[in-house]
Amino acid sequence: MLLGIEKERRYKVEKQPGHSMDYFISTVTDRELKKEKQKARDLRKTQWWKRKCAEGKCYYCEKEFLPGELTMDHIVPVVRGGKSVKSNVVPACKECNNQKKHSLPIEWEEYLDRLKKKEIE
Ligand SMILES: [Zn+2]
Repeated sequence: MLLGIEKERRYKVEKQPGHSMDYFISTVTDRELKKEKQKARDLRKTQWWKRKCAEGKCYYCEKEFLPGELTMDHIVPVVRGGKSVKSNVVPACKECNNQKKHSLPIEWEEYLDRLKKKEIE
């Protein structure tokens, strides 16, 4: 057993212009991860979440989807210290969720900007 030393977990992040890092090291412990994932599961069963999905709108691209097509997304990913609380979870379509992965909102803004530009064109 390693006394208090967590195994270093690296997560790949998509290389973007201006970003030199292609990975980040998570400082979140396995125990915290498990706890937040369980909390997310519980949150998914709440009326609050069901109502959110029933609205049928992706938080990021704002396109319309069937409730079953929306997944729970953490604005600040759990692996980066985000919590499974109402203020940090939003319904997202699979495409946005895939694009986002473990990005932080600031990194993710580039994607959102691109989405918006596409709409204007
Ligand atoms: Zn979306």
